[in-house]
Amino acid sequence: MENSPLAIGTFPRAILHIDGDAFFASCEQSRNPALKGKPVVTGKERGIAASMSYEAKARGVARGMRIFEIKKICPEDIILPSDYETYSLLSKRFFSIVRRYTPDVEEYSIDECFADLTGLQRPLRMSYAQIAEQIKRDLDLELGFTFSIGLAPTKVVAKIGSKWKKPSGLTVIPGKDIHLYLAKLPVEKVWGIGHQTTALLNKYGIRTALDFARKSKEWIEKKMIKPFKEIWEELNGRSVLAVDTKEKESYQSIQKVKTFTPPSNDERFIFAQLSKNIENACIKARRYRQAARGAVIFLRTQDFRDSGLETRFSRATAFPNEVIKIIEPAFKELFKRNRQYRSTGVILLNLENQENSQMDLFGSHLIVEKMTRLYEGVDKIKEKYGKHTLFLGSSFSAHRFSGHEGDRGIAPARKAALFKGETKRKRLAIPMFLGEVN
Ligand SMILES: [Mg+2]
Repeated sequence: MENSPLAIGTFPRAILHIDGDAFFASCEQSRNPALKGKPVVTGKERGIAASMSYEAKARGVARGMRIFEIKKICPEDIILPSDYETYSLLSKRFFSIVRRYTPDVEEYSIDECFADLTGLQRPLRMSYAQIAEQIKRDLDLELGFTFSIGLAPTKVVAKIGSKWKKPSGLTVIPGKDIHLYLAKLPVEKVWGIGHQTTALLNKYGIRTALDFARKSKEWIEKKMIKPFKEIWEELNGRSVLAVDTKEKESYQSIQKVKTFTPPSNDERFIFAQLSKNIENACIKARRYRQAARGAVIFLRTQDFRDSGLETRFSRATAFPNEVIKIIEPAFKELFKRNRQYRSTGVILLNLENQENSQMDLFGSHLIVEKMTRLYEGVDKIKEKYGKHTLFLGSSFSAHRFSGHEGDRGIAPARKAALFKGETKRKRLAIPMFLGEVN
């Protein structure tokens, strides 16, 4: 039993997951060959490392590390600001190369895609593994950096494959071999299984992905909600998650920055500015049905010094009250009382389709449902009456003073009482307070 395969077939379906290695840093090296073989770090504008080349990784640089720390441990590092336009262009080229082989490509994120090769062996006169090899050769050659690929009967297992050997790996996992990989994989490394679910699964004695996959159908039916039933099916080699080939109008990241004058060191005012940026970024995310897995917040001082912190979320969200709660400690850490600040900003990161973001909501799906309904209402009101008719209590002082920067605190009562764009009829400017929405 312990060594028996989970699935008997090899490739009832053939799904690829393709992942660009150190994508942003690789794009920079590809555009400027003088950077090849050198330690390159991107993310200068936010003060933290967003991506680093393998040469930088080898010197101890990790994602989220502060730029000034990096300069200390590795002064020869080349630190560059992010250039999302270039990354997006190379990302498009990446997807179009994969589409030469199959139209069934899901653009999962800026540097990752799924591709369905099922049935292409005969027309292409190659085995699935050979097709995967060929795609990898094309990508490595034409984009000038390497990709890692997993080939498996399902998306969840293909994603395990692409991570198995990095950089520049090609890992082929036929159905009959899945159990060999899952036995070595902690269950929390499975795509879609987050902290809360891991904690729950651990309570049932499930440690590895194989422990989970070997649970009986009855057990899964009784204990798991839909997204985890699907993961369980996929781990067992049965493809239930479709490759979503709809062309997406999506954003890889959404950035909102706002400068205010005069500079300020009023902590509440600056937090309100940041809160307003977060609300605006979330409005945009919801408009495109996207949700973020993390965020970077940053503050800029009067003398143009940036400091930023990145926070990961346990599940994807596009609800500003949730984001604000999570980033508040980071703000407290960044904010220095003796500095004058001139702008704040937020970048929502790792955006995904809201439908996918329902993947890890154990115990929190009720809250998410409630919030979804609440924000559908909020978005409707905004559509009808304007973007800032409803906002969070934490953004209050930013809204209160928007439109007449410079006379902050000395605005006439008339200005303070009427919000920008308001008329007598359209006076709906009610702050929403965090405490009221749980
Ligand atoms: Mg990558």
